[in-house]
Amino acid sequence: MTDTAPDLDRLRGGEPPRNHDARTIAALTSNPGCARRGVMDAAGVDKDAVARTLGFPAPFGQSQFAITRGNAFEAQVKADGCAELLTLLRDRLGLDVPEVAYDDLEVVAGNEGRELRHSRTRRLLARALESGEGTLFDHPLLRLEIAGYPAYLEPDVIAFQLAGRLHVIEVKSFAVVDGQAEPEQVAAAARQSAVYVLALRRLVAELGHDPARVSHDVFLVCPENFSNRPTATPLDVRPQLAVLERQLARLTRVDELLAELPTELTFELDGALAESVRAVEARYAPECMSGCEMALFCRDEARACGATGALGRSVRDDLGGVDTIGTALALADGSLDPSDDLAETAEQLRAAARLRGEALHGEAWHGAA
Ligand code: SF4
Repeated sequence: MTDTAPDLDRLRGGEPPRNHDARTIAALTSNPGCARRGVMDAAGVDKDAVARTLGFPAPFGQSQFAITRGNAFEAQVKADGCAELLTLLRDRLGLDVPEVAYDDLEVVAGNEGRELRHSRTRRLLARALESGEGTLFDHPLLRLEIAGYPAYLEPDVIAFQLAGRLHVIEVKSFAVVDGQAEPEQVAAAARQSAVYVLALRRLVAELGHDPARVSHDVFLVCPENFSNRPTATPLDVRPQLAVLERQLARLTRVDELLAELPTELTFELDGALAESVRAVEARYAPECMSGCEMALFCRDEARACGATGALGRSVRDDLGGVDTIGTALALADGSLDPSDDLAETAEQLRAAARLRGEALHGEAWHGAA
C-alpha cells in the first residue's frame, strides 16, 4: 500500500477496490492523458457502476453468443492437453517442440483461491525456469502492482516454454480471413498480451531470473476463414509493452493527480456523483468508445461543451491548446485574436478555412468579413 491509500479508499466511497483484468489494464494505455480515468482506475472505482448510475451504461460488452462461441473454440484448442495447439505450433509455425508437459493451474486441489493459485504458478514456473522442464502452463494466475494495489490477472492464456524462454499464447475467437484479421481486434489482443508479458516478466524477475526470458513475441491463436480450424500468428508486442510500462509508472504517481482534486471528493453512487466525476478533468476521444466504461458520459460532456477531442484525438492534437470547437472556428474566421502561443495554430486554421472556402465557392474566401 502507498500513502495515497486512504485517499483512494475515500474515492471509492467505502466500496472494496475492483480487480483489474488484462482488458482494464490494457485500456489504461489507450488514453494515458486522461486524469479522470487515471484517478478512477488507481482507486479501483467500479466505473461500470458509476456509468450506469449516471444513466450512461458502458457501450460495450460481449454478446452471450460471442462468449459461448469463444469458450467453445478455446476448449477445442486446449482439449487433450492442448493437442491441437501443439500440432499448430509444430506444423504451422515450424517450432521444434520436442517433449510436452501440460499443467493446468486453474484449480489447486479443488481450491480456486487466488493466493493459492498464484503461489502454485510461482512454484511451477520457478521449477521450469531452473530445470527447463515443463512446456505448457495453462491459466497461470499472475499479479501486477497497480498504483500500490496487487491486481490479479486471470488469463485464458498459456505460458509456453521453448528453448528456455517463455512465450504467451493467447486464444481469441475473432476470425483470421485470408491471413488478415480486424486490425482493431488484433491491436486489442496485442495490448492485452503485453499485460501478460509484463506480469510474467515481473514474476520471473522476482524469482531471480532475467525478465528477458519472457519473450516479447506472443502467439495469437484464432479460427481460420470462418471455420473452427485454428491458426497461429506470431505478434511482437514491444510497442505495447513500452506504452504499458510508461502508463503504469504514471499511475503509481497518482498522488500528483490526487493533489489537484478537492479533498472531500468521492465517487459514491449518490446524487452528487455527476458533479464529482466532472470535477476530474477528462480527455475524451472517440477511441474511448471501445475501451472505457465512462465513454458515453464523457462523450456527452465533450459534445455539450464543444470540446475538440470529440472530433478525434488527431484533431485535438493538431489543435493543441485550442480546447473548444467554437474557439477553433473563431480563430479560423478571424473573429478572435489569438494569444502568442496560438498564433501558429490560428494561422493554420485561417489557411484551412481559406482553402475550404475556395473549394466550396471557387473563389477566395474572407471568413466572417
Ligand atoms: S471515457 Fe472518459 S474517463 Fe474514460 S478515458 Fe475517455 S475521457 Fe477518460
